[in-house]
Amino acid sequence: MAATIIDGKAIAERVRARVAQGVERFAAENGRPPGLATVLVGDDPASAVYVGGKQRACAEVGMRPLDVRLPADAGAEHVAERLQALNDDPEVDGILLQLPLPSHLDGPSLTGSIDPGKDVDGLTPVNAGRLALGRPGLRPCTPRGVMELLGSVDASFEGAEAVVIGRSNLFGKPMAQLLLEANATVTVCHSRTRDLAGVCARADVLIAAVGRPRIVTREFVKPGAIVIDVGINRLTPEQADRSKIDTPFGAHGGISDRPTSGLVGDVDFEAVRELASAITPVPGGVGPMTIAMLLENTLRAARAAASPVTVAVERGGEQ
Ligand code: NAP
Repeated sequence: MAATIIDGKAIAERVRARVAQGVERFAAENGRPPGLATVLVGDDPASAVYVGGKQRACAEVGMRPLDVRLPADAGAEHVAERLQALNDDPEVDGILLQLPLPSHLDGPSLTGSIDPGKDVDGLTPVNAGRLALGRPGLRPCTPRGVMELLGSVDASFEGAEAVVIGRSNLFGKPMAQLLLEANATVTVCHSRTRDLAGVCARADVLIAAVGRPRIVTREFVKPGAIVIDVGINRLTPEQADRSKIDTPFGAHGGISDRPTSGLVGDVDFEAVRELASAITPVPGGVGPMTIAMLLENTLRAARAAASPVTVAVERGGEQ
């Protein structure tokens, strides 16, 4: 039986429409829309495209975007000062420091200087700690987006086996914690995991965030599993031309001969869709959810800042 294709684009549209309504209400009650500041250091073209997309999405739901650009040679002090000014600006509700930063800057340290109440990426130690402790706080956008996608197929987590491939601070770790919070039995795999395919084949919910084209082949997938592909891999022109990619577990002598486009996920979509009960495509699966959840986090942050009771919770006070 072919899997249900989880349409991340359509689900993200619904989230954005919900956020737009919330923004309208917030603006009517507070006399201003929520504000989201993006900070881009340097001129990396991919990062500039991502930031542009976030700015546009922000304006589309009626929020106030603030586009802060700093030169590639900006010193740590300069960036920190700019972030502090945004922390202090009452019309800025969310701050996003676009990663990666130029190599002379310490990403985790600068991210950590963002006010946790405005940390709409959910990456500061305070928000990561709150997630680990099961306390309220702003959660990272991509894992939240995955939970929303899983909700769309009525995934039942109670005691289910969930396997996450990848243990990054940005995605794998918070994803595992959200699944645990939802009562799944969670395993986190990484580059040192023994028998990766065997561990993954136990999963009722399999989530891949590796960054290796089509590493997840049929052998990784239990029939009926829900498969979420977080990976975004841009193929080289040579790979795209050959329409073949080396995979360690390929069912075709180590080479996957599925049709390719320039952009592929970590999952061999065509092979796995025949086994899974539901699956996300790349593009059009997890990707659109990340920005949608960023907008939702900004609205949440704005509401929390406007309400003295919630603000205590979001900013570290007791409930
Ligand atoms: P990352 O920091 O590079 O982490 C990759 C993880 O994969 C690491 O934990 C690594 O293990 C593991 N890994 C690498 N090779 C492996 C192998 N052969 N077998 C098993 N595990 C392996 O990447 P990330 O930031 O989490 O992102 C992962 C992917 O998701 C990327 O393609 C990224 O573009 C994509 N992504 C997409 C979105 C979106 O909005 N759609 C958002 C975030 C990320 P070790 O820890 O042992 O090195």
